[in-house]
Amino acid sequence: MAAQETVDHKYVYDFAEGNKDLKDLLGGKGANLAEMTNLGLPVPPGFTITTEACKAYLATGREPDGLAGQIEAHLESLERGMGRRLGDPHDPLLVSVRSGAKFSMPGMMETVLNVGLNDRSVVGLAAQAGGNERFAWDSYRRLIQMFGKTVCEVPGEEFEHALDEAKRARGTTSDLDLDADDLRGLVDAYKKIFLKHTGRDFPQEPREQLDLAIRAVFESWNAERAVLYRRQERIPADLGTAVNVVAMVFGNLGPDSGTGVAFTRDPASGAQGIYGDYLANAQGEDVVAGIRNTVPLQDLERLDKRSYDELLGIMARLEGHYRDLCDIEFTIERGKLWMLQTRVGKRTAAAAFVIAGQLVDEGLIDLDEALHRVNGAQLAQLMFPRFQLDHDFEPVAKGVGASPGAASGKVVFTSARAVELAAEGEAVILVRRETNPDDLNGMIAAKGILTSRGGKTSHAAVVARGMGKTCVSGADEIDVNVPAKRFSIAGQTVNEGDVVSIDGTTGKVYLGEVPVMPSEVVRYFEGTLDPDEADDALVRAVHRIMTHADAARRLAVRANADTGEDAARARRFGAQGIGLCRTEHMFLGDRRELVERLILTRTDTERSDALAALLPLQRDDFVEIFREMDGLPVTVRLIDPPLHEFLPPLEQLAVDVAVAQERGEDVAKEEALLAAVRRMHEENPMLGLRGVRLGLVIPGLFAMQVRAIAEAAVRVTREGGSACPEIMVPLVGAVQELETVRAEAEKIIAEVVGDSGVEVLIGTMIEVPRAALTAGQIAEAAQFFSFGTNDLTQMGWGFSRDDVEGAFFWRYLELGIFGISPFESIDRDGVGRLVRIAAEEGRAARPELKLGVCGEHGGDPESVHFFHSVGLDYVSCSPFRVPVARLEAGRAAVETVGSDSR
Ligand code: ADP
Ligand code: MG
Ligand code: MG
Repeated sequence: MAAQETVDHKYVYDFAEGNKDLKDLLGGKGANLAEMTNLGLPVPPGFTITTEACKAYLATGREPDGLAGQIEAHLESLERGMGRRLGDPHDPLLVSVRSGAKFSMPGMMETVLNVGLNDRSVVGLAAQAGGNERFAWDSYRRLIQMFGKTVCEVPGEEFEHALDEAKRARGTTSDLDLDADDLRGLVDAYKKIFLKHTGRDFPQEPREQLDLAIRAVFESWNAERAVLYRRQERIPADLGTAVNVVAMVFGNLGPDSGTGVAFTRDPASGAQGIYGDYLANAQGEDVVAGIRNTVPLQDLERLDKRSYDELLGIMARLEGHYRDLCDIEFTIERGKLWMLQTRVGKRTAAAAFVIAGQLVDEGLIDLDEALHRVNGAQLAQLMFPRFQLDHDFEPVAKGVGASPGAASGKVVFTSARAVELAAEGEAVILVRRETNPDDLNGMIAAKGILTSRGGKTSHAAVVARGMGKTCVSGADEIDVNVPAKRFSIAGQTVNEGDVVSIDGTTGKVYLGEVPVMPSEVVRYFEGTLDPDEADDALVRAVHRIMTHADAARRLAVRANADTGEDAARARRFGAQGIGLCRTEHMFLGDRRELVERLILTRTDTERSDALAALLPLQRDDFVEIFREMDGLPVTVRLIDPPLHEFLPPLEQLAVDVAVAQERGEDVAKEEALLAAVRRMHEENPMLGLRGVRLGLVIPGLFAMQVRAIAEAAVRVTREGGSACPEIMVPLVGAVQELETVRAEAEKIIAEVVGDSGVEVLIGTMIEVPRAALTAGQIAEAAQFFSFGTNDLTQMGWGFSRDDVEGAFFWRYLELGIFGISPFESIDRDGVGRLVRIAAEEGRAARPELKLGVCGEHGGDPESVHFFHSVGLDYVSCSPFRVPVARLEAGRAAVETVGSDSR
C-alpha cells in the first residue's frame, strides 16, 4: 500500500488509452479523439491532460505534483512515435495545444497551433517540407499570433493590422499571395508586437512554449466570456477543461493540402446530405473563424477525390458509431487525410426532431431514444412565429440561415450598444462583420444576429444556435462599417436605430419590420395541419415523437385557463383538463361596480344583493368553460387575491377626491371608496387577507362561487354534456380552514346537484409551507391537492417575487446561490422537498388523493421531470406550454438514470 501511495495520480492519457465515455475526465474533444484513434481512424498521435489536472491547477495556482513528469514521458513517447523531437532545429516535431471541456464551448477556450517553432526550427521545418520556406514562415507567424493572443493577451488586432499591412505592401488582399520573404518580415513585425505588449521576447524554448500554452488553457476556464457562456448554457462552473497536445499536421503545405469542417447531416434542417466547408492551403483556424471564403465540401471531390471518398466513408462510419449527427474537423496534408475532431454535432431544434425521426427509420435508434434526443426547449422554439411574406417584402440580402426564427429590431453595431438598448426594452439586431467571443453579451441581449461573413460553422452561427437565437451569417452583400455605425446594401444605407428583419431559416434580410405568422408546428398542434398530408419532414417528426411521448408518459397534462377561449385552445394543444381556472377575472370589467358594492357595503342585505347579481354572471362563465372541456376535469380556484386589488389605487383615489372637492362636486361615493381603501390597506398583501381567509370572513362570497360552479355543471350536464368540476380552495394552511369551507360548500352542492349525477370534488391548493408540513391532516378533508409552486416558492424562500427578481436575483445567480431563478425552475432541495413531503403524507392519509401542480413550474422542462419523480398525477401550465409539458413528461417516463441530454 505504501508503495501505491507514492505512485503519482494519473493526469495524462495517451489517445489510445481513452474513449468517448470519459468526457468528464478527458473533455469532449479528448474523449472523441481517443474514440476515433481506437476506431482505427487517421488521427495524429497525441495525449490529453485531464480536467482533474486543470482543477488542481485552478485550486492551487500551480501544476499538481507529478504532472510535469507525466507530460515529459508522454511527450517522449510521442517524439519516439513520430521520429522527431519537439523543436528540433533540423526536423522539428510541432504540436497543437487545444482546450476541450466536457461540453463544447465554441470559441470560448484557447487553441495554439505550431508549438515548437522558433528561429532555428523554422529553418528545419522548411527543409523537411522540401524547401518550402513559405509554409514554414507562415506556420511560425501563426504560432506567434495565436500564442501572443491567447497565452499572453496581446491584442489580436495588432497582428491583424500587421498582416493587412503586409498584404497591402504586396498589393493583394489574400494571404496566399504573401511569399516567404513577406512572411519572414511579418514574423519580425509580430515579434516586435509581442515584445511591446509582454515586455519579453517571444519564447524560443519549445518546452516553455508548451508549458505556457497548457497553463493558458487551464486559466481560460475562468475567462470572463467562458464564465458567461457557462451561465447562459447552465454548464456547471466546476468541471474544468482538459488539454489536448496533438502532433501537428499541415493543411498549409500547398494547393494539395487544406482543411475543413463538415456535418454528417444538415445541422439546420436535419436533411441528409453532405454539409461542410473546405479551404485549400490553410490551417484549421481559418475556417472556424470564417476569415477566408471557403468552398463547399462537395468541391473537394474535384480537388482530391481520394481524400474526399475516404472522408465520406469515415463520416458514414462515425454516424453509425455515434448513432447521431456528427460534426468533424479534418486536415489534408499533401493528399493525406487526418481527422482532428469529431463530436455529436449541435443542431437546430428543427433538425433535432427531423434527425431523431430519420435515425429511427434507419434503425439506428428506437423511439424511446428518439424521445430522449429532443427536448421541450427545442419544441418551444419551433412554436415561435415566422415571417409572413405574402406582402411586398423583398429581401435586400441573403446570407446563410444559421439559426432559425424571425426577428425584427433596431440595428446596432456593438455589443455594448445592444446591451444598452435592450435594457431600455428595445428589440435590437446585432450587426457585425463577424462575431467573436467578446460579442457574447450583445448576442444575449439581441433578438437576432446578422453578420456579413462566415458560414454555418462560424462563431456567430454556432453560438446563436446554442442560444436558440435567430441568426443570419455571411450576408456578404452587406458592407458593415462599425465605426460609422452603418451598413450599406444595394446602394442603400442602414444606420444604427433603423429597423431590419432577419429570417434565420432562409437567411433572408429585409429592411423594415416584416409581420409574422404562426409556425407550422403550432398549426399542427391546433389541428389545422394534418401530419399525414404535410410534406413537411419536421411536422411528421414532431407528430411521431409527440405520439410516442403521449403513449409513454405517466403524468397527465392540464392547462391553466380562465376563459372558454383559453380552454378551447388548451384542449387543441392536448390538455387533458384544466388544472387552474382563476376566478378573479370574473370580478373585473363591467362587474367592477358590483364588486365595489360588495366590498363597501356594511349591511348583510346589500351584500347578498351584490352577490346575487354576480352569481348568474359567474355561472355563465363556468358554463362556457365546462362546455369546452366536456368530459374533462376543470379545477376552479375560489377567489384568491385581496379584495382591495379590485379597487382603484389609493394615490389615484386620493387625488380624484381632492380635485372633485376643490370643484365643489358631490364626492360622497368616492370618499367612501377612499375610506375603504385606507381601511383595507395592507403592508404585505401577499401575506394578508386573501385566499381562504376571505372566504372565512366575508359571508356568502365562497358560497356564491360554489353555487355558480355547481349550477353551471348541472346545466351543462342537463344539456347532454359532462362537467367535472373540482373546487379548489386557495392558501389553506390548516385543515380547519378547509373543513369550514368544505362543510358549507357540500351543503350547497348537495342542494344544487340533486339527482343530476354531477359530481363535484373539493380539494385545496398546497402553497403555504404549513400546509405542506401538515398535509397528512389536510388530506383528511381534501379530495385533491394542487401545488401552487409560485406561492410555495415565495413563502418557502421568504421572497416577495415582485420585489426580489429585479433587486438582487442577479447577484444570487452570480454567486451561484442558485443556478436559475427558483420561480423559473423548481428548487428541488427546498421547495421541492415541501412538495415531496406533502405528496407522501397526503397519499399516506388518503391513497386515492389526486395530486397536481398548477404553478408556472408545470410548464418548465426540468420541473416536469421532478414532478414525475415525485409521483404527481398531472402538471398544469399555460396552454402554449402544454405540448412542451407533454413531451417532457414523456421524456421523464423513458429516461434512464444518469443520462445526459446535453
Ligand atoms: P476549437 O475547439 O475552437 O475548434 P480546436 O482545438 O479544434 O479549437 O482547434 C482549432 C483548429 O485548429 C481546428 O480547426 C483544427 O482543425 C486545427 N488544429 C488543431 N490541432 C491541429 C493539429 N494537430 N494539426 C493541424 N491542425 C490542427
Ligand atoms: Mg475544433
Ligand atoms: Mg397562490
